[in-house]
Amino acid sequence: MDNNATTQPRQEVIEALAEAEACCWANSASPHRLGQKAKSVLNRAKQSIAFHLGCRAGELVITSGATEANNLALAGVFEAEMFRRQPRRRILVSTIEHPSVLETAEVLRARGAVVDHLEVDSSGRLSLADFRSKLTQDTLLVSVMAANNEVGSLQPIAHVAEACHQVGAYCHTDATQWLGRMPVNLAEWGVDLLSASAHKLHGPKGVGLLFARAGISLSEQQHGGGHQGGKRSGTVNVPGAVAFARALQAAADQSDWDSVKALRERLFEGLSKSAGPIERISPEDDCLPNTLLLRFNGVDAEALMASAPSICCSPGSACSNATLLPSHVLIAMGLDRKAADECLRFSLSQANTTEEIDQAIKILAEACSYVRSMIQEAA
Ligand code: PLP
Repeated sequence: MDNNATTQPRQEVIEALAEAEACCWANSASPHRLGQKAKSVLNRAKQSIAFHLGCRAGELVITSGATEANNLALAGVFEAEMFRRQPRRRILVSTIEHPSVLETAEVLRARGAVVDHLEVDSSGRLSLADFRSKLTQDTLLVSVMAANNEVGSLQPIAHVAEACHQVGAYCHTDATQWLGRMPVNLAEWGVDLLSASAHKLHGPKGVGLLFARAGISLSEQQHGGGHQGGKRSGTVNVPGAVAFARALQAAADQSDWDSVKALRERLFEGLSKSAGPIERISPEDDCLPNTLLLRFNGVDAEALMASAPSICCSPGSACSNATLLPSHVLIAMGLDRKAADECLRFSLSQANTTEEIDQAIKILAEACSYVRSMIQEAA
């Protein structure tokens, strides 16, 4: 129940990866026959991904993951802009972005960008009034994630992109948690840049992508051989791209998330009855179908996890677990430190079963009452 951290690769994806490693290991930039074979396999994979996104294969840059894609989107656009005579310097990022967006924005601030943060409400949704007041004629780029990794809130991306274009700004969205769970249609969203990562949709780790609309100037962030049209140097991970394409195809073929939603609600109702008092922090509507962030009132989430080691879930975001800071997402949504420390995120997949959910409810209820009794004893 920790699928927003990463997902188990599907068997067919593992097979596609192994097959591509065996047959298409050559450098796709090499002019010889093996290289050209790898290149054509890469092109096919990119075409397949482009089909699912609603874009052109030439608009995709294969990266090592979404972290790199986010870095490339923000820094690539900013650096390219700096070559203009009167560059725009204003970058807007939502307060609940992944650290790979927030920290890149801070790096750019040190290089002369004017960075401002867009607020969210208590359900983790962008405050449109705040967005409108901060979106000015000198805005270069706005980065708002499609779906949040910690609470699952969804953003009105098409609306954000349209507003950006009215002032001539670019719109980037980090769709890492959205892709594979709900359809993406770039034509409908209208964004200029989009990041994603294969390992969040039952693909392999170490491969992601950046969609950059044709015509957007992007300064490469990895310098070297000028691969991928000068947007990202480095030998392309052809087997990774093949496996990414296969994972995306499988996600499109198995698009039933209603049963996952039903499991999520079963988990919430079961825990409400037996592990209460609990509070639902994730929004009920406009939320990823698999994500449920709960506050277990009076129970420290780390202690709860330690008392239920068989339950794989996450205190806040797994990406920031190296630090003991409370989740920046929960703080942005108005929770205080104590409340944030009492939150656990459950993120399901299509592989979870009713039996697992019922077992998890039982184990967590017991662990909750154990931790609460320990706290009472200590008091
Ligand atoms: N963006 C979001 C929303 C994420 O959830 C994550 C990973 O948790 C990333 C970016 C980073 O992805 P990757 O592991 O591919 O670098």
